[in-house]
Amino acid sequence: MKTPQPDSPFLRAQLARIWGGTVGLMVALAVLFAAYGVLDYRAQFALAESEAQEIADMAALNAEATLQAANQLLTGMGAILQHAPEAATPQAPQIRNTLLSWQAGTPYLMDLLVVEPPGRILHWTGPGTPPDVSDRQYVRHHLEAPDSRLYVGEPQMSKVHPDKWFFGVSKPLRDKAGKVDRVVVAAIDLSVFGDSLGVRFSIPGSTLVIASGDGKIYARIPDNEKYVGKHPGIPPEAAQYPAGTPAGLFVTRSPLDDRQRVVAFRLLRGTSLYAVGSVDIGTIMAPWYERLVLVVGMWLVLGTAALWFAYRLAVSAREHETLAAIDSLTGVLNRRSLLGLADSPERRRERGDRLVVMMVDVDHFKVINDTYGHAVGDEILCRIAAALHSCCRQSDLVGRYGGEEFLVVLDHASVDDSLLLAENMRQAVTAVSTPRGPVSVSIGIAAIDTVDGTLDDAIRRADTAMYAAKAAGRNCVMVADAAAPAVPAA
Ligand code: GH3
Ligand code: MG
Ligand code: MG
Repeated sequence: MKTPQPDSPFLRAQLARIWGGTVGLMVALAVLFAAYGVLDYRAQFALAESEAQEIADMAALNAEATLQAANQLLTGMGAILQHAPEAATPQAPQIRNTLLSWQAGTPYLMDLLVVEPPGRILHWTGPGTPPDVSDRQYVRHHLEAPDSRLYVGEPQMSKVHPDKWFFGVSKPLRDKAGKVDRVVVAAIDLSVFGDSLGVRFSIPGSTLVIASGDGKIYARIPDNEKYVGKHPGIPPEAAQYPAGTPAGLFVTRSPLDDRQRVVAFRLLRGTSLYAVGSVDIGTIMAPWYERLVLVVGMWLVLGTAALWFAYRLAVSAREHETLAAIDSLTGVLNRRSLLGLADSPERRRERGDRLVVMMVDVDHFKVINDTYGHAVGDEILCRIAAALHSCCRQSDLVGRYGGEEFLVVLDHASVDDSLLLAENMRQAVTAVSTPRGPVSVSIGIAAIDTVDGTLDDAIRRADTAMYAAKAAGRNCVMVADAAAPAVPAA
């Protein structure tokens, strides 16, 4: 038989240490892993930023070199037109040949043009009859808003080279009065950006875009053909940078492929074009997600192991406590744990102002031992303990106080309540079967006011009452300080 018993303060402290330590360990590991996750995420994000910046910087360098070369050609054309005597003659072969030789030596140069306002081609490198280009922005720009800077026109389909995209780079030439009398134009094949920007992506899913400030696309790697000449709009996040900002960085969902991207841009010197590098966040974060899953998995495994060990520790602490608290023969509380529990601060706090103790002693037990031997005596002791225990409430404490003596401690109990219980016990014991016939117990009861009295005092008085019950003929119940047994034997 095992007596249900409250946890001792010692066991509770031990369990609190075990579970508190385990939860603390798990929280500490979670904090450690979370910190690792955050730092790792930041490092990965910084990698995305520097990669996007590198793409934009590389592309800007190469695109600037291309535009610079075109600018030099236009400056050269201006010099020829100023000094060559044939300059005023439309389609003069000498001029055309010079322009053709320059064109041949410059990759991606589609055509060179000299245009007279409002749009008649005076010299060019193209085949057949020159078209009218008065509608082309790279001409009109210099007539409508004259300044001497290099103008980079929008991507356009060529009028003379079928299915070819190009953009015009132009500069004005002025007469002596300062009026624009010619515009020199280099038509540059748009594939220059697609082919020659020389950017190698080290992270898959990266992109490069050359675009005007209002979002018109000159080149987009990869899938250039799909996007060139298109106008996808500027992502709202870019609006934080005022027009003309030389470089910047933001995160956005790309209007081109709807993927979340880290975007770096760089303004091409002397133009309103931007080189824009971007890195797909999903791709660059994939290894981070993998590490996160690993770390969370590690935490779960470690946490489960820690919880399992804590559970095993708690179980064994409880087993030890039980073993240490239980009388090994009868299964009720032993004397040490009974007194410890009965006098514990919690119990003292909760038991109210009345406490009753009962001393229960088996009558003539020595005779049983002497007649049937100790083994039978032990068995009968166990049955008596079980009988006593079966009469008690869950909150009552039943323990073996000495050889064949038991102590019962009742909280919140009056003498009347305990007399009823004592009588039940007495009867239950007489029902225990033994080879010698019925056995009996003598019971002494003592109640104390818990404010003034101590447990020791109550036990002493209950013991005296028990001896009084023996003196009164045994198999009866005696209340402390009473003259006669409260429940005499039948
Ligand atoms: P009384 O009615 O006056 O109490 O008589 P009693 O014989 O019970 O009292 P006494 O004090 O003379 O003897 C107690 C006996 O209880 C002596 C001892 O052999 C027996 N006893 C004590 N502990 C154990 C035990 O663990 N096992 C067994 N079998 N007997 C025990
Ligand atoms: Mg006895
Ligand atoms: Mg005794």
